Amino acid sequence: MKPAPFAYTRARSLDHAIELISKDPESTKVLAGGQSLIATLNMRLSAPTLLVDINGLTALKEISQTDGYLEVGALIRQREAERSPDIARYAPLFARALPHIAHPAIRNRGTIGGSIAYADPAAELPACLLALDGEAEIAGPAGRRTIKADGFFKGLFETALTASDVLTAIRLPIATPDSRIGFAELARRHGDYAVVGVAASARKDGYVLRDVRLAFFGVGTMPTRARKAEAEIAGRAIDQDRIDAATAALAHDLDPASDVHASSAAKKHLAAVLLKRVALQLVEPMP
Ligand SMILES: Cc1cc2nc3c(=O)[nH]c(=O)nc-3n(C[C@H](O)[C@H](O)[C@H](O)COP(=O)(O)OP(=O)(O)OC[C@H]3O[C@@H](n4cnc5c(N)ncnc54)[C@H](O)[C@@H]3O)c2cc1C
Repeated sequence: MKPAPFAYTRARSLDHAIELISKDPESTKVLAGGQSLIATLNMRLSAPTLLVDINGLTALKEISQTDGYLEVGALIRQREAERSPDIARYAPLFARALPHIAHPAIRNRGTIGGSIAYADPAAELPACLLALDGEAEIAGPAGRRTIKADGFFKGLFETALTASDVLTAIRLPIATPDSRIGFAELARRHGDYAVVGVAASARKDGYVLRDVRLAFFGVGTMPTRARKAEAEIAGRAIDQDRIDAATAALAHDLDPASDVHASSAAKKHLAAVLLKRVALQLVEPMP
């Protein structure tokens, strides 16, 4: 299919982008890598009258360190992030998750910001942002604001971004020697969206893990923390009993609906299998 007719403008600056969007936010879409947006236009799931191309905004293409956070510009391509020494060293959970997104051709164009803003419930990066207790940097007509991942994802393809906003960057707490991460997903073929997946982070404190965060994806309308399972793992030495308790608690955390890929029961089973894998990864030293 072909998209409905639309106008196209290249933004010259962030202010220019916001000015263009603000004229008619509900009928305007930001164009980043286009890997999700163009498909939705072609399928006429979306019919904006104006696309504002932000690819020329160099300020959104930087990776920097500030206040203990790695700030990753929204326009950093997924492939660029995958090859970035800074991401590998300071945000290894992202480094581990990125190769699971689609294929290199798609990651060459798809952006970090596009994935977070689009917020597909089966996508890897939104869950990683949530697992890391990261933040979203947003610019809009009223100025700039920062929102924690726990408050950023609101529902199916719905985030704290309004139609007038541009996501400018994400902020990830810089990994330290006591940081621990885990990542596992099951997809029908490598590169497909996950049937179920989990991104995890924790802090090693002697023999125990603290600040455990388990963010599942593919199990609902948005990335979802398994808080009861987190509580079973946190503050105690990890052994088989702990892992069994966490997987039992998971039944109270997740209630995935059946979809075309798997029944609700199958998703719950897969989530428990993946939790066992990441629980073991969490006690391993950082890569
Ligand atoms: C065949 C195929 C397989 C894929 N498999 C996976 C997969 O396994 N896992 C996965 O996570 N993704 C997958 N994707 C999606 C891919 O990761 C996209 O790149 C990503 O979802 C969107 O990023 P983008 O930069 O292309 O954004 P676009 O397509 O340009 O935009 C997507 C949406 O986000 C909005 N948006 C984009 N950037 C901003 C911003 N800075 N501020 C505000 N709004 C913004 C747009 O307006 C649009 O609504 C796949 C895509 C394809 C085509």
